[in-house]
Amino acid sequence: INAEREFSIRTPKSMEKYQAARRVMPGGDTRSTVYFSPYPITVSNGSGPEFQDIDGNHYLDFLNNYTATIHGHAHSKVVEKVNQALSSGTSYASVIEEQISLAEILCARVPGIEQIRFCNSGTEATMFAIRVARAFTNRAGIIKMEGGYHGTHETAQIELFNTQQAPVSMGIPVRVAQDVYAVPFNDLEAMEQLLIQRAKEIAAILVEPVMGAAGVIPPLSGYLAGLRELANRYDVLLIFDEVQTLRLSTGGAQSKYHVTPDLTALGKIIGGGFPVGAFGGRADIMSLFDPANLNHLSHGGTFNGNRITMAAGITSMELLDQQAIDHLETLAKKLQMQMQEAIHRLFVPASVTRSGSLLNVHFTEQPPINYASTHRSRKDFTQLFHIELLNRGIYTAPRGMWNLSTVMTDFHIDQAVKAFSDSMQVIAKCI
Ligand code: PLP
Repeated sequence: INAEREFSIRTPKSMEKYQAARRVMPGGDTRSTVYFSPYPITVSNGSGPEFQDIDGNHYLDFLNNYTATIHGHAHSKVVEKVNQALSSGTSYASVIEEQISLAEILCARVPGIEQIRFCNSGTEATMFAIRVARAFTNRAGIIKMEGGYHGTHETAQIELFNTQQAPVSMGIPVRVAQDVYAVPFNDLEAMEQLLIQRAKEIAAILVEPVMGAAGVIPPLSGYLAGLRELANRYDVLLIFDEVQTLRLSTGGAQSKYHVTPDLTALGKIIGGGFPVGAFGGRADIMSLFDPANLNHLSHGGTFNGNRITMAAGITSMELLDQQAIDHLETLAKKLQMQMQEAIHRLFVPASVTRSGSLLNVHFTEQPPINYASTHRSRKDFTQLFHIELLNRGIYTAPRGMWNLSTVMTDFHIDQAVKAFSDSMQVIAKCI
């Protein structure tokens, strides 16, 4: 209650805006995922690793639009490229060179991508990866992970426990769920049991190589290689959703963990801060989209491959070289270590999971290895901790996820660690 009171005192203009926004948009926004109680702040502007709200409060951004703005806000190189692109016309019903360039960059960097197509969101990316997998195999079944997040289309929103089929969301017909199965992440045995029963109906296994929304859960050693082996053995396709994990190395999680999927979905960082998605993979599968063939798989989208997104995306990928990835890794490792030190010093039953520059704070003593084990995390602590961090100028995901941008330095990590320790002290007093 104290934390929320302080938050309200610091953000009166945001509260006013929230009330005005609610009159014209249900919940005051168009993204359910950025809502938190008592109300989300309204942002005015950002630069580098920081942004400001309309009340003049400054925040260090450890959310980065859910990992999309990997180079912070208004990066000068991105701004320069986008300004150039603006004056050449933004979208045409034709091909532009920038699209070819970004396609070449991504095909060269990501081992599993021989050919690629662009769209405007990660949601579309996973939707089309699923569609082409179904078309290629002539099967409908999709196996996903419990708690796996792949965007907002219907198949993606089906969430199941132990293969008992039940749609997660109102408005999705039950029949959509009939082709979707779910198993726990990091459990090869459960996957194999399902494949033994169902492989003939399954088009693909869809997995985030590091689970994101479920709580930044890295794969156990050998898990992804085991999935690859099972997919081969049972003749189903393997799709990696790398919408968040492309940042983990120059070639994404598939390079980091040395496992190559048949198809890959991308988004977020490849658009340099603009709306984007892409899906790619083996050329024999992707060739189904070739409209020169009479019987092809159709894929349209008015703004697919538009000049602004492509120009910003090329710049974003060029900036994310090995040196930038090493910098992120060094800072993230330091952040995780110092977070853990604070947790131990204060005897709080909490843990920090991490892969590269993605981290998640859990209020469980043992770091979770799948979605079910995240349910043991204290939701009340997670919520309080989030507001305590906000009051100290640190912006993170309400569910406890943190990620870094390349423009951060040791200085920003030190600031974050101080706010983390002070906020954790508040939690320690609640135990
Ligand atoms: N897949 C993953 C792993 C994601 O994290 C997200 C978004 O957070 C999506 C897909 C959906 O992307 P978008 O929000 O661009 O539709």
